[in-house]
Amino acid sequence: KTTIFWFRRDLRLDDNAGLYRALKSDNPVLCLFIFDPAILDQLDDKQDARVTFIYDTTKNLQQELEKHNSSLLVLYSTVEMAWQQVLKDYDVAAVYTNHDYEPYAKKRDEAVAELLTRHGISFNTFKDQVIFERAEITKDDGKPYTVFTPYSRKWKQKLNDFYLKSYPTRIYLKHLLKTAPLPMPTLQDIGFKRSLQTIPDKNYEPYIIDYAAKRDYPAIKGTTRIGIHLRFGTVSIRKAATYASEVHEKTWLNELIWREFYMMILHHFPQTQDHAFRPEYDRIKWINNEKHFEAWCQGKTGYPLVDAGMRELNATGFMHNRVRMLTASFLSKHLLIDWRWGERYFASKLLDYEMASNVGGWQWAAGSGTDAAPYFRIFSPDAQTKRFDLKMEYIKKWVPEYADFSKYPKPIVDHAFARDRCLSAFKEALSK
Ligand code: FAD
Repeated sequence: KTTIFWFRRDLRLDDNAGLYRALKSDNPVLCLFIFDPAILDQLDDKQDARVTFIYDTTKNLQQELEKHNSSLLVLYSTVEMAWQQVLKDYDVAAVYTNHDYEPYAKKRDEAVAELLTRHGISFNTFKDQVIFERAEITKDDGKPYTVFTPYSRKWKQKLNDFYLKSYPTRIYLKHLLKTAPLPMPTLQDIGFKRSLQTIPDKNYEPYIIDYAAKRDYPAIKGTTRIGIHLRFGTVSIRKAATYASEVHEKTWLNELIWREFYMMILHHFPQTQDHAFRPEYDRIKWINNEKHFEAWCQGKTGYPLVDAGMRELNATGFMHNRVRMLTASFLSKHLLIDWRWGERYFASKLLDYEMASNVGGWQWAAGSGTDAAPYFRIFSPDAQTKRFDLKMEYIKKWVPEYADFSKYPKPIVDHAFARDRCLSAFKEALSK
């Protein structure tokens, strides 16, 4: 009999909660990864950098597992068909995997659990990608927090060595199923081409020491850029949080708490995936001018800091947090374009795209989310430039033609006009 460990957003052998438990179960473990067309078919860009990243990472995992005389079974088919094949080809005793919290993943896992139960096979799932999940941090009455600060206070109070302890997975790799190397589909087989985009390094330590002082300036590399690694599990959240605690970098630890806060919000309020967290904000009459949207996407709004941000995103799959806040606010407030359009655009481009944080960030910017600034606080792109890119280094890097005013587009809306228009649209929706 065989235990199957199913990799999803936890693509590492070190400190992997579910893999550790699988290896300590009664039977030898075969690892599995499924390229799921339900997810891949939604990606319009067939050169998506995230797919290349996942592809290369699973290939490395397979090579590593082969060093232990095992392999990684990689399938490309619907999840249901993949499982039917696994059950046909192997005498499966139990399946182990880690929790996955997005709405699609939850449904998928329910269906797989049902299928396995019908075959008398247990489906064992574990917390791995967060320190605290779902309802582990609640108010005293058991209700979910909807404001960050008290949530983060409770989070920090509850944190202790138990939650940070890493799982010594490697010691148990000798319990892997012995098998010959297994085939791996090519990127072409799964409908994609190799992306040439650079993936940020997973080494976060050098950026944490000076994080609080440097994190606000987009011209310097003052943040870790490990979002993609936390997203796909190539970095362990327990190790990252342990490091932040050891070096006492509270500001950075706080960012990791924001990540879990938004995941908790999406878990308890799944409708916020595409509805305002504050329902009255769904009454806003968006203008949704497609030409303006196009100009925003391309970084041609005539507001240099907004444009620099969008161009950085388009070129690298990354945008600095300060500029994410500004570009999102600009789209929803200055242009009165539905935040969901921007959320989708970010989702298609960000290497570190994470539904909970993206929806949370967008709703914060549009004023409709948890902890949102009051709607009448509207970022001024010029004031933001003075505060965070005074020497215009970031702007010059991404919008070189800004130096020559004749070549740079005029603002697509006037700031004062857009501000007033936004205030009346929001006031009208919210006063009903
Ligand atoms: P660091 O500053 O080094 O922080 C480390 C990690 O903490 C990040 O990788 C991330 O996992 C987490 N983190 C940091 N800030 C936040 C935050 N405000 N909310 C939640 N988690 C945070 N973050 C995403 O991971 N995915 C997204 O899709 C995403 N979309 C966003 C959309 C908008 C409109 C806004 C305003 C913010 C968004 N963020 C998102 C949050 C934040 O901008 C990014 O996490 C951060 O810029 C990533 O850079 P970094 O990896 O260098 O982070």
